[in-house]
Amino acid sequence: MPINATLPYDDQNIFAKILRGEIPNKTVYADEWALAFHDINPQAPLHVLVIPRGAYVSWDDFSARASADEIAGFIRAVGHIAREAGLVEPGYRLLANVGGHGHQEVPHLHVHLFGGRPLGPMLAR
Ligand code: 5GP
Repeated sequence: MPINATLPYDDQNIFAKILRGEIPNKTVYADEWALAFHDINPQAPLHVLVIPRGAYVSWDDFSARASADEIAGFIRAVGHIAREAGLVEPGYRLLANVGGHGHQEVPHLHVHLFGGRPLGPMLAR
């Protein structure tokens, strides 16, 4: 079920548990600002989730409350991961779902990074 992205941060969400090491993940990249790991149900040959270490519900929450250092660190991590995976030349897609219409299911900001094949039109029609 999609979440309501205006609710306060719930530190029992699955990605908070992954950040605390309570649930295993297949880590692709980790630094001071971000953790990246393979999606458990991949929608493309490469499907990585990149999350900030801070407690932010969504892109809306992050863009409103995060510090400039957190935002820069997170955005740079996303770009670094795509470059390291060799995705720049063939191309790739970033996606951040927000709230009900965005069909966001996990209430901790995550950017989906898809690559490894032509990804088709942006949205299902
Ligand atoms: P959303 O719809 O919120 O943008 O996407 C949530 C994503 O998290 C989905 O693609 C789903 O497969 C992934 N996911 C949900 N639970 C887990 C988990 O426990 N581990 C990993 N690695 N991915 C998860």
